[in-house]
Amino acid sequence: MKAQFIRSINDAEHIYTYYFEPGSTLRYIAGQFLEFHIAHENPDDRGQKRWFTLSSSPTESHIAITTKIDPKKPSSFKKKLHSLKPGDSIDISEAMGDFVLPKDDSTKLVFIAGGIGVTPFRSMITWISQKHATRSIQLIYLAQSQDQVAFTEELSQPFVELHVLSDGKRHTALDLEKIIGEIKTKHIYVSGPEPMAKALATDFKSMGLNRYQIVTDYFPGYESI
Ligand SMILES: Cc1cc2nc3c(=O)[nH]c(=O)nc-3n(C[C@H](O)[C@H](O)[C@H](O)COP(=O)(O)OP(=O)(O)OC[C@H]3O[C@@H](n4cnc5c(N)ncnc54)[C@H](O)[C@@H]3O)c2cc1C
Repeated sequence: MKAQFIRSINDAEHIYTYYFEPGSTLRYIAGQFLEFHIAHENPDDRGQKRWFTLSSSPTESHIAITTKIDPKKPSSFKKKLHSLKPGDSIDISEAMGDFVLPKDDSTKLVFIAGGIGVTPFRSMITWISQKHATRSIQLIYLAQSQDQVAFTEELSQPFVELHVLSDGKRHTALDLEKIIGEIKTKHIYVSGPEPMAKALATDFKSMGLNRYQIVTDYFPGYESI
């Protein structure tokens, strides 16, 4: 379907949110992603389509995506995204993906965001807050620097125990366990650059968590937070 670009905002250093109005009703669950097709001249070898998790919540009026724009060598796709003017039209797919909240609202949740991997958590936490639902969440947000921490206001909710580690270092599952405490009864959601998310998921499994307790969302195209 078509979607119209509305506006963008600068959330943090190199991090921008882009708002769109879908041409017809788009049904989605917090944490799901869409394919975005932005036609442009002379696309580079990475092409004209990308997957993006919606950082907006279904309770909000517009859909939004949030991404990091490489200041030195952005792809032709991101250059075009960043130069959209209000009213410009792009193509989006239906929503998909199972990186969503568990149905059982008594499940204790641990969210681990690697850099821009915070997008599904912004969506879920906003959804919970606006629905006045009850959840218990520990959110560990790993960022390159304090300047690259986005959504602090939206993430700071009474039901969220927020830990921001903005030293840009690689943290292992063992480091994170010190913050999480008892992990055996919790469900761990990891979202971020593919190498980071895969390494953490493997480590958590080796610490005795079963495959239903670890949910991952890999963002290809990023090597590090
Ligand atoms: C399910 C899913 C959800 C996702 N959700 C998000 C999201 O919410 N937010 C988000 O930002 N991304 C998300 N992604 C990743 C997104 O689709 C892009 O892959 C990512 O943003 C990188 O974009 P880009 O390729 O335009 O590269 P850029 O961001 O422009 O560049 C990334 C890096 O690639 C380097 N590079 C330059 N040229 C090349 C080249 N030719 N080939 C390879 N690398 C090169 C650049 O130097 C730069 O450091 C998601 C992916 C999936 C699969």
